[in-house]
Amino acid sequence: MKPSAFCTLPPDRIIDSSPLGLVIRDGFPISPGHTLIIPKRHVGSFFELELEDRSELLALLDRAKLLLDKEFSPQGYNIGINDGPDAG
Ligand SMILES: [Zn+2]
Repeated sequence: MKPSAFCTLPPDRIIDSSPLGLVIRDGFPISPGHTLIIPKRHVGSFFELELEDRSELLALLDRAKLLLDKEFSPQGYNIGINDGPDAG
């Protein structure tokens, strides 16, 4: 399996992780607290992830929200998935 850009992230970029996923702050935030939740399994699309991966990513999403609530107290959240190169 060929390493992805996310395999070689410096450890200090990773703010949370689990066996199947990791959480980082975006390097070019669209808004304060812009956070990425990334599957560790190398797939080309969200739709190729197993239910197990998806569940764990959602658990990381909940944990990321707790951190963001504490740090930024946002009034709301945008939660999105860019799936495939043409979707960014
Ligand atoms: Zn990788």
